[in-house]
Amino acid sequence: MEVKKIGVIGAGQMGHGIVIVSAMAGYDVIMRDITQEFVDNGMKKIEKFLSRSVEKGRMEASVKEEVMGRISSTTELSDLKDVDLVVEAIFEDLKIKKELFRELDSICKEGAILASNTSTIPITDLASVTKRPDLFIGMHFMNPVPIMKLVEVIRGLKTSDETTKLIFELSEKMGKVPIEVNDSPGFVSNRVLLPMINEAIYCLYEGVGTPEAIDGVLKLGMNHPMGPLALADLIGLDVCLNIMNVLYEGFNDSKYRPCPLLKKMVHGGQLGRKSGKGFYDYSR
Ligand code: NAD
Repeated sequence: MEVKKIGVIGAGQMGHGIVIVSAMAGYDVIMRDITQEFVDNGMKKIEKFLSRSVEKGRMEASVKEEVMGRISSTTELSDLKDVDLVVEAIFEDLKIKKELFRELDSICKEGAILASNTSTIPITDLASVTKRPDLFIGMHFMNPVPIMKLVEVIRGLKTSDETTKLIFELSEKMGKVPIEVNDSPGFVSNRVLLPMINEAIYCLYEGVGTPEAIDGVLKLGMNHPMGPLALADLIGLDVCLNIMNVLYEGFNDSKYRPCPLLKKMVHGGQLGRKSGKGFYDYSR
């Protein structure tokens, strides 16, 4: 099977980025969100990214027009009936994602591949609501999608070799580096990253160092481009807590226990950059 047209579901932070890399790789893309307002916002972000690429001399103006010409948008799921691949990037909610995939399975043509960009939800679980678990796969892009090289490709229990091979080739065509992992809580990326962030929060909680000291040690000593607490603020502390809970419940292991300080900050609405305050102050 050759992929010519891709459907991207969700026009948010990840969805609009996936549309950009797909259209830049030469695929026709249709982006779907639930309201026209969300679709328009996504289209604006796409247009802004491409315009900036032209301004900075990274893209010819004519290429921008070609890329934009390959992108269409809709609020109707049924408009995705002719796509060869769907990449889902909607809210991280098991129930909503399952409902969506059940519907997609009945709408999409035979042989179409269904991929999820979920950060934590088991791929095998999502695939189980469809009649095509062999054609179901995790395609975990990193944020911001046009910049970050990795696509973590997650095989569910029944994902076929052909589906995996096709997603590898497609990711490479998008200029990404795919890495294959198996389905397990947090996959590899979040299983390794989040406990490190959680441990940094414990260091702060126990008074081992200030946020600047903790981040400084990781940046200057381990060559991390960003300290773990600044990164947590960027990801969103609510998202960090959600992922720690997935690891904690998924493995039933106390080593993944979310730090009480993380819980307290989330419950108090201190969520990082998006709320103006996290481990650092972003209000000014
Ligand atoms: P977001 O909130 O920015 O965007 C989600 C979009 O999905 C919203 O515009 C919403 O209206 C739309 N949506 C919800 N239900 C829908 C439906 N049924 N049909 C169509 N659209 C629907 O979220 P995001 O940060 O882009 O995250 C999307 C997915 O990507 C999540 O599963 C998340 O875990 C994963 N992810 C996020 C990041 C990140 O850093 N933000 C990184 C990797 C993976």
